[in-house]
Amino acid sequence: MDNGTLSIDLTGGRAGRRVKARTSPCIQCGAYSYVILLEQELTQYQAGTFVQDAFPNLTPAERDLILLGLHVECGEKMSAWWRDHQ
Ligand SMILES: [Zn+2]
Repeated sequence: MDNGTLSIDLTGGRAGRRVKARTSPCIQCGAYSYVILLEQELTQYQAGTFVQDAFPNLTPAERDLILLGLHVECGEKMSAWWRDHQ
């Protein structure tokens, strides 16, 4: 499975190393973000593991950032917009 959202920049050479991954552009503001992830967990995610299983230690907001590139504050803006326009 190719999720197509993360590009990888390896930062180390050891087992259990962390990698810096670029997220998709934020669906609200369009800016990219960078997250530091365990390579082992990122590999599982890219192999098709659900994000909540691949990254058990991340908060839901951090998972949204990985999945959608969505910043916490941008998510709040979008929620407010939907509240006001329905
Ligand atoms: Zn944003």
